[in-house]
Amino acid sequence: MSQSDPSNIPSSTDNIHIHLAISQDQDRKSTSSTMTVPPETTPVPPSVFTPGTSPRTDEPKPTPTSTAIPIPIPPTAKPAPENEGNSTKPLALPRLRFHVEDLTHTGSAVFLSSVQAPAVLTTSIESIHKHLYDISLSSPTTTTTISSHPPKPRVITLFLRDIPGVAYTTSSDLDPAHKEIHFSLSYIASIASSRQAHEITGVLLHELVHCYQWAAQGSAPGGLIEGIADWVRLRCDLAPPTWKQDNVPEKWDVGYSGTAYFLDYLERRFGDGTVLRVNEKLGKEKTYKEKAFWTELVGRPVEQLFEDYKETLPKKGEDEGKK
Ligand SMILES: [Zn+2]
Repeated sequence: MSQSDPSNIPSSTDNIHIHLAISQDQDRKSTSSTMTVPPETTPVPPSVFTPGTSPRTDEPKPTPTSTAIPIPIPPTAKPAPENEGNSTKPLALPRLRFHVEDLTHTGSAVFLSSVQAPAVLTTSIESIHKHLYDISLSSPTTTTTISSHPPKPRVITLFLRDIPGVAYTTSSDLDPAHKEIHFSLSYIASIASSRQAHEITGVLLHELVHCYQWAAQGSAPGGLIEGIADWVRLRCDLAPPTWKQDNVPEKWDVGYSGTAYFLDYLERRFGDGTVLRVNEKLGKEKTYKEKAFWTELVGRPVEQLFEDYKETLPKKGEDEGKK
């Protein structure tokens, strides 16, 4: 799900986000070190996808918890090679499809005149692989254990539809390897003209991250999942002007830009590839256990890291939000 840029929304107290909840079927890859199954070849029962609603605030809905699904190994599945970066391989793109529900909608005209969809989607997918899977960009201290392989959606279909909120990503009912990104035509129509290409590209990048990130079989905090998506957006210089790092979040997993800036702090503190390793670990863990997760990853509990992070932010006159 993408968080809207408030400057782009006319008024509204009732803009509703249909919350992203793709993580459970993203995690269909086994976490066993001896069974690495290319996700696209793995039949998984259709996930119970529960589109929730979330307000257009900084409060993401928690990611629905999913049950671990035993993954059968199809006969033709070949184990993915371990400890092999994908930076030198040509990136295999899924089939990219584009569906405009209403060509007469102003948002359709804005979209079609602002961006070249094939280029934006392709570049975004490349950026996601670079930031979340390209071990060559990791610092030397973080490359030794990396054996992360992205989910491989077979098809990604971008729908431009007149829906509430901004955008969300889900899986096809019939095929979990078929991802669907639904992007609101009304939201697109509301973007200030000077920001249309930047904002559309940023939202698409955020949603595409959801097609390629891991989520500990759906057990990772929704705020972390949304934070990683916005961290990639941040790293790609696609942050909207409304994002402010100085807005101290109440919790580390508040999600979206609040968590994205925290993750960026971790990336700078522990070295390039730290967020990549967060995602990698989310690909290995069947169940997200917060204390163990972060302690194993960077040697400290996340709450302590968050306190350290807040110390780096400018102090504000008001004590609110600094709890
Ligand atoms: Zn999202």
